[in-house]
Amino acid sequence: MDSSGITITFAPDLQVFVSARHRGERASVRIDGTSTIGHVVESLGPPLTEVGGLLVDGERVAVSHIPSDGEDVVVHAVPRPQQLPGPPRFLLDVHLGTLARRLRLLGVDTAYESVDIGDPALAARSAAEQRVMLSRDRGLLRRREIWAGAYVYSHRPAEQLTDVLSRFAPRLAPWTRCTACNGVLHAASKSSLQDRLPSGTARSFDVFAQCGDCGQAYWRGAHHARLDAIVDEAVRAFGTA
Ligand SMILES: [Zn+2]
Repeated sequence: MDSSGITITFAPDLQVFVSARHRGERASVRIDGTSTIGHVVESLGPPLTEVGGLLVDGERVAVSHIPSDGEDVVVHAVPRPQQLPGPPRFLLDVHLGTLARRLRLLGVDTAYESVDIGDPALAARSAAEQRVMLSRDRGLLRRREIWAGAYVYSHRPAEQLTDVLSRFAPRLAPWTRCTACNGVLHAASKSSLQDRLPSGTARSFDVFAQCGDCGQAYWRGAHHARLDAIVDEAVRAFGTA
């Protein structure tokens, strides 16, 4: 009985999570006869947030399937774009501040905690607000409470943004959200913002907006060239509504 085993093949996108000896085709894995296939897969590395489908001897099974001796398991990556019940909303952990600001710049509803509130509180907020938890922390993504989650593959913000946009295809509405607090921007007149603008700004620029939540003033100017480039690249690759 203790020689019971299955073979398992991980999709290319999942191999980053898996140790070298389980990366090949039909790697051998011991089983105990009681653990679910979901548990077996997670114990080999990939968080279930990254798993799109499980085939056993060619038939699709649920993560609750208990594998038995000799089964041949294929683990697919989550399909892109990944379908959610409604428009994607996100919650980012403390390490993803730059990504949070870039998603907000594109008008994507993005909650972010700039202090570490801890994994249980993050998972609870994901559940309460039905936000997709984005993180590079596999332990956080394994928490059962999270509503939905996604591993952020790169540590570079530009690649992180492309990763999230290609995975969830959120509707982009650039310059509609406050990058500081995620509040929705509304048009504002120069005169109403006079005391919030650096000297010279009111003279030089005409497009003004203000955050409905924190009051931050926004205008379009030459110093936004870097942000314009981020917006242009995202819109070119992923479009707007
Ligand atoms: Zn704001």
